[in-house]
Amino acid sequence: MIEVHTAKDIQKLAKNYRKKGKTIGFVPTMGFLHEGHMSLVKKARKDNDIVVMSIFVNPMQFGPGEDYDAYPRDLERDRTLAEEGGVDVLFTPGAEEMYQQESTVIVNVKKRTDVLCGRSREGHFDGVATVLTKLFNLTSPTRVYFGMKDAQQVAVVDGLLNDFFMDIELIPVDTMREDDGLAKSSRNVNLSASERSEAPALYQALQQGARLIREGERNPDAIKKEIRTLLEKTSGVIDYADIYSYPDLETMETLSGKIIIAVAVQFSKARLIDNIIVNIPLDQKEDL
Ligand code: AMP
Repeated sequence: MIEVHTAKDIQKLAKNYRKKGKTIGFVPTMGFLHEGHMSLVKKARKDNDIVVMSIFVNPMQFGPGEDYDAYPRDLERDRTLAEEGGVDVLFTPGAEEMYQQESTVIVNVKKRTDVLCGRSREGHFDGVATVLTKLFNLTSPTRVYFGMKDAQQVAVVDGLLNDFFMDIELIPVDTMREDDGLAKSSRNVNLSASERSEAPALYQALQQGARLIREGERNPDAIKKEIRTLLEKTSGVIDYADIYSYPDLETMETLSGKIIIAVAVQFSKARLIDNIIVNIPLDQKEDL
């Protein structure tokens, strides 16, 4: 595995691979790697000649008072996991490398951001879209891999690639979970022991929502109410429990087509998010 730190080096390396006709699968992360990240790498490994991973905790996507400083970091361990997972090139820039001067241009996401995490984290998706535009220009990817755990991010990246005619294929990857259903996340280490035991409630609530749909419920408010009741049993504060069309993230009065049920709960030191996508009418492979 090669590790590079500078924009110039990664760009040169990636361009050379593409010139030689190699395909590049790119997995952007903020590090503190877990099996969720590695499932993206595994898929990228299968589909491409070269796998590039970035590890960059992007200051621009954290708001004031959010957990930028408390975000867990362990580059030594990440290096080992990345290499074992089959990453060819690890890009680990510092913040000063990615933001070398005061920005002259940032990417402003106009749609799919007035709900869910976009509503509670102002400017978050501008930060995500800006850093991804930089990273895509540096890594020349054939395909990019994103986890459906961050389904709103997938919807935003889909818009970014389409609107800016970026010749990159977006590959969404299913959420990896712990045995008790909790979505794997770097932030899970910031849960206290009692919060950790409550945290599976997020996925249980989502499953209850899906169950109601399977039983014929099509009124989003009725489903949201039941999800909230389940989440209120935890010590966390509910940020949202919502249902929208996917990927457009528009409000629906009666549920139909492809929808997302998404929740976010703020625990003392960790904000957890989770979601499921349901196709109505339900297709047989839906995991309900
Ligand atoms: P992060 O380091 O949290 O920015 O995540 C980097 C990438 O890994 C994003 O595309 C995430 O959606 C994805 N990811 C994070 N957690 C999981 C998970 N439990 N299952 C699948 N993908 C994940």
